[in-house]
Amino acid sequence: MIGAAPEIKLHVLSTGVMETDLTWLLLKGGRTIRDRHHKDDPVVWGDCPTHAVLIEHPEGRVLWDTGVPRDWEERWAPTGFHDFFPVKEPIDGPGYLDSSLASLDLTPDDIDILVLSHLHFDHAANARDFAGGKTRIIANDKEVEGASQIQGYSAGAHIVSDYQGLPIETVSGDVEILPGISVIETPGHTWGTMSLRVDLPQEGTKIFTSDAVYLRDSWGPPAVGAAIVWNNLAWLESVEKLRKIAEETGAEVIFGHDGEQAAQLRYAPDGVYR
Ligand SMILES: [Zn+2]
Repeated sequence: MIGAAPEIKLHVLSTGVMETDLTWLLLKGGRTIRDRHHKDDPVVWGDCPTHAVLIEHPEGRVLWDTGVPRDWEERWAPTGFHDFFPVKEPIDGPGYLDSSLASLDLTPDDIDILVLSHLHFDHAANARDFAGGKTRIIANDKEVEGASQIQGYSAGAHIVSDYQGLPIETVSGDVEILPGISVIETPGHTWGTMSLRVDLPQEGTKIFTSDAVYLRDSWGPPAVGAAIVWNNLAWLESVEKLRKIAEETGAEVIFGHDGEQAAQLRYAPDGVYR
């Protein structure tokens, strides 16, 4: 598998950091969810970093996810998002998606394929920047179907204006996007959350779980669930599906929002995985 991999290289992009009660991410030890007015209470407020992945492939440039919006304070309607998930720019690294791309001398029009792991506000928020006609936008069919049923401004972490009207192509199941780059259907967090598998020629397989697995502590084994899960049984099955693939391939697994792991990643523009 690895021997057959085309010459592709991968950059991890920093795309904004939320602060939040980490209970959203890990229900463990009797934690209860609080908002920012109670952040000084002895709870588990902490950083919830986001990332995107840029893959330079001989057949095109692929972007995985888009992070949180730079203009979150003005953009979000008064929903509670501001209080529960305020955003700050990373101290290290180039910051949000736009500046991360710019650090590589890229703009959204340079991206051939944008793959959205799911349509939550901290993954799909900047997708509209890629609607200029140069980029194919791909998401899971169950995700698009579920998200299209939402009435009003938002439901859970889906904000309708992030994705409504976008020309999204849908895929179903586990699908190869380009040789060496595949999506893995891992529902549970939402209807159609996907994970990303990249088979790198030198460093082997990387699996980016997005919100299928938030944290190393969620991964286990045993897997530990979170507050934001659409279907717990499907979620658990998806984690075990990923674990099996990771064991078979010896993959490194990069979790969706793990602060400790995020600090170890090699970010663009200097960081590159080959
Ligand atoms: Zn999510």
